[in-house]
Amino acid sequence: MSGGAPAAARAAAAADWALPSCPEFTAPPGWQAIDFISDLHLSAAMPRTFDAWAAHLQHTPADAVFILGDLFELWVGDDARTLPFERRCVEVLADAARRRTLAFMAGNRDFLLGEAMRHDGGMADLADPTLLAAFGRRVLLGHGDALCLDDRPYQAFRAEVRSASWQQRFLARPLAERQAVAAEIRSASAARRRFDGDSLADVDAAEALRWLRALGAAELVHGHTHRPASHSLAPGFARHVLSDWDLDQGERAEVLRLTRAGFERVAPAGR
Ligand code: MN
Repeated sequence: MSGGAPAAARAAAAADWALPSCPEFTAPPGWQAIDFISDLHLSAAMPRTFDAWAAHLQHTPADAVFILGDLFELWVGDDARTLPFERRCVEVLADAARRRTLAFMAGNRDFLLGEAMRHDGGMADLADPTLLAAFGRRVLLGHGDALCLDDRPYQAFRAEVRSASWQQRFLARPLAERQAVAAEIRSASAARRRFDGDSLADVDAAEALRWLRALGAAELVHGHTHRPASHSLAPGFARHVLSDWDLDQGERAEVLRLTRAGFERVAPAGR
């Protein structure tokens, strides 16, 4: 850096941009493979998707499954975990957690999933974002919605619903009322757009690259956009977008697997 802005101006510009706090998750040395999945949008209305997910958690050869958000179509609070469908999900998770590590990061549909559900499902908590150190790589993990910066109405909505005051108010409502909100999101596109943001929004590539450089990571893994692909962000920097799962109305289900050899996309196990 030569000439250019005075030091004070440079410092002010740097202060405008702060990296979100980013905890690190270090994979144990014995691990051979980590699976990443997201955007399953599980609900009682999606039995084939549920079955594929349950089979994968049971049969995958991976040491760990990292769920990067939107596991559930909508999570209205941990008191819902005793309902029939949600209880079956708890059983699948708890059974898998006895054999491998499960970790959960909240998405825009299941950000109300809390400590009680993580405990019953045997899932470790992953902050959004989390930096994963595994197989000699540093990989940034996020759901993806926080990086869709162009979608300002959604970012404002996200900040509101992630606040403690909004969550306390919402969780204080009776379960039946919260389930009615979930039903509205399923059936009314306007409500759904509020929770999901603009379906055309995408991760801000420049911001993703800034995060990666600041963290010394070369790769970003995220979901949310339902547009599975691997993109180069710059020479030496890539982002891997996870697939959503829909085996009821569609034929989509895919796992991103990381091993010492790198990333590969594989079909769910056990089908
Ligand atoms: Mn999402």
